[in-house]
Amino acid sequence: MRRCCVVGLCLAACAGEAALPGPSELPPRLPVAAATDPMFDDALAFDPLPPPRPTSWRALFDEPGQSYLDYVSTLPRRPDGERLYLLPLAEMGTAFVVDAEVTYIVRTPRPQAMTTLLAAYYGVPATVLPRVELDTLVEPDRVRAGHEQFKAQTLLRATATRVPDDAYSMTSLMVQDVFFDDAQAYGFGFGQHRDGQAVVSFARLDPVVSGLAREPDVLERLPARAFKLLVHEVGHTLGFEHCTAHRCVMNGIADLEELDETPLHLCPECLRKLLYVRPMDLRERYAALRGIYAELGLDAPRRWTEDRLARLEREAARPAAP
Ligand SMILES: [Zn+2]
Ligand SMILES: [Zn+2]
Repeated sequence: MRRCCVVGLCLAACAGEAALPGPSELPPRLPVAAATDPMFDDALAFDPLPPPRPTSWRALFDEPGQSYLDYVSTLPRRPDGERLYLLPLAEMGTAFVVDAEVTYIVRTPRPQAMTTLLAAYYGVPATVLPRVELDTLVEPDRVRAGHEQFKAQTLLRATATRVPDDAYSMTSLMVQDVFFDDAQAYGFGFGQHRDGQAVVSFARLDPVVSGLAREPDVLERLPARAFKLLVHEVGHTLGFEHCTAHRCVMNGIADLEELDETPLHLCPECLRKLLYVRPMDLRERYAALRGIYAELGLDAPRRWTEDRLARLEREAARPAAP
């Protein structure tokens, strides 16, 4: 039976909004060599998605996925000297939240760590804006189970005037609940390419906030959960829709279990999308990310990135075919 609401979810608002252009309107850079490029063709490194559980995002939402060519056909904007901005709407680091009827502590990564990771991940410089208190922007749209909840679309209208002129996109950072669909119990975030804005909520990364049992190692799990949500929502601002090709940071995420299963990396299909809007040397990208993951204690992404980097370096060292 389908659940009428989910523990947490986020959705690319750009899905299905624009008609696809005809072939003559496509931009000139197409994936001529990518399909046979060993950098992308490694089934061991890029796991397929398993069949969905009844509570998985793919069981709750019938989304078609987005291939590389689907993406290119949307004519995504390319960063051109612009920046990714983060707008904290509360204290980051450790926030003590006094909500409508509940109080709880939210631990988030440091803003500087977020910008460092995003800049290396997407190849676009990232900057943290001065904090703006959420209650100076919008009123909560509703109260659910003691939590004030803010509708993403309303919030992003309120923050639109604060998007800097040189922004590729701006992502607001919250420690209270966000939702975009009235059927949601709460969401993890929301992002869209069209308006270049996203919002991430770190409120529910600790299951105790949702009245669930806290894992013994929850403090070790929190950073990876937070960075996955951040990278995912910023990915939506680049026009990446939910991925159904492989396990990928752009997979739809319905709950903490699915968030924990989601990797921090982009799958080959989504990596091609990134290289389309932001061409870069993949080995340099992975080397930078490896160092950042090590510094942040993100062990699983660090190990995966090291393996990937070693694979690419072996390929680069192989003599060319005669
Ligand atoms: Zn999403
Ligand atoms: Zn993907």
